[in-house]
Amino acid sequence: MLYDIIIIGSGPAGLTAAIFSTRREMKTLVIGKELGGQVVWASEIENYPGFKSISNFEFIERLHDQALSFGAEIKTAEVVRLEKLADETFKVYAGKEEFLAKTVVLTIGLSPRRLAVAGEIELSGHGVSYCANCDGPLYKGKIVAVIGGGNSAFDSAEMLSKIADQVYLIHRNQNFKAFESLITEVKERKNITILADTVVKEIVGDSKVEKIVYETIDGKTNEVSVDGVFIEIGRIAHTDLVADLVDRDDRLQIVVNNLMETKTSGLFAAGDVTDKSEYKQITVAVGQATTAALSAYKYLQTRNQIKKSTTAY
Ligand SMILES: Cc1cc2nc3c(=O)[nH]c(=O)nc-3n(C[C@H](O)[C@H](O)[C@H](O)COP(=O)(O)OP(=O)(O)OC[C@H]3O[C@@H](n4cnc5c(N)ncnc54)[C@H](O)[C@@H]3O)c2cc1C
Repeated sequence: MLYDIIIIGSGPAGLTAAIFSTRREMKTLVIGKELGGQVVWASEIENYPGFKSISNFEFIERLHDQALSFGAEIKTAEVVRLEKLADETFKVYAGKEEFLAKTVVLTIGLSPRRLAVAGEIELSGHGVSYCANCDGPLYKGKIVAVIGGGNSAFDSAEMLSKIADQVYLIHRNQNFKAFESLITEVKERKNITILADTVVKEIVGDSKVEKIVYETIDGKTNEVSVDGVFIEIGRIAHTDLVADLVDRDDRLQIVVNNLMETKTSGLFAAGDVTDKSEYKQITVAVGQATTAALSAYKYLQTRNQIKKSTTAY
């Protein structure tokens, strides 16, 4: 089966690209690790035009249903390799399956940055979490730590302080990069203790998180008992998969032009994974995805590889 377009990633950008490609009558396959992308980690979305407030899951469901209703195929899998063949088509390797496409749009977004300390990977899902909104409710009456010093970390600490008994906010220096009002709010919370100039060395636990071992600025090692650890130290692009097909900036984001084209013809990118915008927001991602899908259509049309679409945009 040769698809007109394969979209890798099923977050807001991927699903939007699918809505636009199917409306241009392109045979469309979306392959994504998990439906919804980062929106799964959000809760209520209050800045998407047309919805004063919409829950993250309803938002995802609406995008998903819309893409399906126009004829997109959506598959849950991780793409592990992408190759451009001599005949100009792309081979997409997803798990044990392979798919062929005339064009590809990369909408692989951003993933949480790892802390890279002992115990983190082993205890991930057993007390180590990257999403306070998703896992916070599991820690009612417990003791948790949030690692990080930006808005996400402060937001998470504030939110968790309403659920857990005690929250430790641990940051490696004194340089907090959160809104001043949020910092003040967190500092005023009775059950939040800020441990600044503190570097986490290890997350310890047998089958679940039991404690954090940390080092203070004077070089002393100490530990604190916790039930959960929320790592909120930013998000990064995982683009090694396409390293030889695209240019990347110093943050490993995919370099695109105004048409969302990468350096490889027929290969486009959109959404948070691109270098195009500093503002990682849904509206930006879906705008780029619209451009990417329509650029892919135009690419095929100028090569007479697709019949002219009869539908409006
Ligand atoms: C906690 C939180 C709250 C937020 N709240 C808001 C908000 O209120 N309003 C707003 O506008 N924005 C918000 N954002 C930002 C918004 O979620 C992102 O801008 C948006 O999701 C970007 O969409 P995307 O499709 O480009 O990428 P992503 O949402 O990151 O989706 C990328 C998808 O690609 C998949 N993927 C990655 N690699 C592969 C692979 N190799 N194979 C297959 N699939 C792959 C990922 O699993 C993921 O599903 C929030 C973000 C977070 C973390």
